Amino acid sequence: MKTAVINKGKIVIKEVPDISLNGREGAVVRVLGCGLCGSDIVKFVQKLAKDGTVLGHEIVAEIVEINSKTNFKIGDEIMTSHHIPCGECVYCRNGNVSMCEHFKSTNIVPGGFSEYVYLTEEHLQNVAHIKPENLTDIEASFYEPLGCCVRAIKRAQLRGNSTALVVGLGSIGIMMAQALKAFGMDVMGCDLIPARVNILRELGVAAFNVKEMDPTFKADGVFMTSGSDKAINTALKYVRNGGKIVVFSSTPNNWGYANNEIYYRELTVLGSYSPSPVDLQDSKNLLRSRQVKVDGLSVVYSLDEIQKAFDDTINNRIMKAYIKIKE
Ligand SMILES: [Zn+2]
Ligand SMILES: [Zn+2]
Repeated sequence: MKTAVINKGKIVIKEVPDISLNGREGAVVRVLGCGLCGSDIVKFVQKLAKDGTVLGHEIVAEIVEINSKTNFKIGDEIMTSHHIPCGECVYCRNGNVSMCEHFKSTNIVPGGFSEYVYLTEEHLQNVAHIKPENLTDIEASFYEPLGCCVRAIKRAQLRGNSTALVVGLGSIGIMMAQALKAFGMDVMGCDLIPARVNILRELGVAAFNVKEMDPTFKADGVFMTSGSDKAINTALKYVRNGGKIVVFSSTPNNWGYANNEIYYRELTVLGSYSPSPVDLQDSKNLLRSRQVKVDGLSVVYSLDEIQKAFDDTINNRIMKAYIKIKE
């Protein structure tokens, strides 16, 4: 089978032996397609993933071999994510599931940018779902990233009807804004790129160019989905005193939120990383009910074009890449 591996600063297509269950529990799935996540880009650009790594975890796939206690069967089209919390450790008991050691160590083998992957029984039981019939494969590939947004919203614990500002309207920001609205918030989004502002407006959510924002506007919660260090100042400018900033992206220079600003303004700055199985369930419901619309956000590439998908994402030529793997 074909798989896309990191090799000396490039993504190359490599032929590797086919996968089979060989008596194991779980499933072998044929990947229909896989979304390219911002975290894959960070791992690639910052060389955090070693040579031979196969990235990709926003998977839509078809079951081709199965040995499981679940009700999944051969031919089922599913969507899945990669990490599963243990439910018992100090992190899990305190709601920080994405810090759980088990969570970090569970993975799909070899990775989503492959023709086939192996899912463990644990994946099937906890994070795999039948793809809703009304969703295209591409829409279903947003199941995991939207789960991350759901988690960020829950972690912020804003009251209903709070004012929320989303800073950065890439695909994550566009989803975050719609999900916040679905959670009953009064939402506004901002970005420097006019086309992105327009996308959110067309989805019925208020959006502005950062340069044209009312300087007196203040949000109860700011969701930082921009990967730019400069956006930190935008967040600090528009969060109300006593408000919350949810950090949802790494930034290249790792600039921080100023100590005295947090102190004198009584701000809460919190991070949110990766979703729990419950967040993923909520994500599925938001996609299926079309409270969060994602059609048209992705540009489709074949597996052979994956390097271009990475390059186009890195250079901001596109918002989101979807690697269509089964032709
Ligand atoms: Zn992701
Ligand atoms: Zn745990």
